[in-house]
Amino acid sequence: MFNAIDVATLQLCTVIASAAYALVFFCLWLNRRAGRHMLHWAAAWALYALTIAGFATVPLVGQSWLTQPLYVGLSLSSALLVSGIRAFDGDAPFPPWMAGVVLVPLFMHDGPRVLAAAGVPPGWVATRIADTVGLAVATAILGWAVLMRAKDERHLVGRRIAGFALLAYVPGYCVAIAGLVLSPQTDFLTRIPMLLDPMLVAIISLGLLAMVGERAQQALRDAALRDPLTGAWNRGGLLAAEPRLARAGTGIIAIDIDHFKEINDQHGHVAGDAVLCVLAAEAMRLAAARGGHVARIGGDEFVAILPDGRFAGAVEFSEALRAAIHTSDALPVWTISLGASVIAPGETMLGAAIARADATLYRAKTAGRDRLVA
Ligand code: GH3
Ligand code: MG
Repeated sequence: MFNAIDVATLQLCTVIASAAYALVFFCLWLNRRAGRHMLHWAAAWALYALTIAGFATVPLVGQSWLTQPLYVGLSLSSALLVSGIRAFDGDAPFPPWMAGVVLVPLFMHDGPRVLAAAGVPPGWVATRIADTVGLAVATAILGWAVLMRAKDERHLVGRRIAGFALLAYVPGYCVAIAGLVLSPQTDFLTRIPMLLDPMLVAIISLGLLAMVGERAQQALRDAALRDPLTGAWNRGGLLAAEPRLARAGTGIIAIDIDHFKEINDQHGHVAGDAVLCVLAAEAMRLAAARGGHVARIGGDEFVAILPDGRFAGAVEFSEALRAAIHTSDALPVWTISLGASVIAPGETMLGAAIARADATLYRAKTAGRDRLVA
């Protein structure tokens, strides 16, 4: 039944599919020139379409000066998919090892010719096995490279889809090699990679597009949970993290700038904004060093959530923050007041502990400001 598969039609399907995706990625790049990764992927599929069209017109055996560029074209097009992913990650797109991988199929393609020159003429079966092994090795390395890059970014499912789809060529090549070994006269198994081709081109492309979409979505989600001025979490960010953070023993420190209105009035809102940014940056730095987080919950009021809620921890954080905010001579001298509380056993929300921290902050204000009350 499968012997009836028409190779030329399969190749035509692959050429059409890859040319279509080349066009899609090229248009996406035209729309946003900063996204160089789109250009890599457009080039990858354009080259792939040309290469498969070349295979459809050039006889596979006996004209290696014609087939050499085609084998390089196959591995180079896969390498361009990987270089695009590297560009998307902000890395150098073409590391030196990639040149070696691109040349593997050419090396395997020319191997039998070297044997022939040494007086051991290989048959066409050996030649095609060598060609397929070369492609399998190059594709396996490039597919693995994509999956390795997915290790640290678990939310990018699209990247995994693209990596697994690239790797899926390898079993196809292995089946083709088995076919050449077991029954070289029947083309049934050697056609499997071609059968997979149009489908894998589509899956890889959709994986890449999903990867870009997922990252954009993640960036939007992050932006929605942060205060645009200071970069600290906003109330939404605090709410989103609440189930994770509301644990008995966690420390809550309310932080408020003293006489902030006067800073605005005397030095202008730009200076006021700069003061808010300095406070948020220093609080986030010190909290992060202790495994904690910072949210801006009002105009000049922030809360720090620290895993260590003990009194000594609150004092240490507060003193470090009070010392750290006076680093810039360009800003007016300013102070902060702080109030500390701890999440009590049985509390599963942050609200009550923040209210208690606020109440102690109010006591710090009435006691003369520029201090911590815990
Ligand atoms: P206290 O010592 O009692 O905390 O007095 P305060 O002046 O710091 O407190 P008050 O609540 O009277 O003033 C807060 C001011 O913060 C008023 C508001 O205009 C200002 N503010 C709120 N958000 C921003 C902002 O994003 N940028 C700037 N520059 N000012 C802001
Ligand atoms: Mg204030």
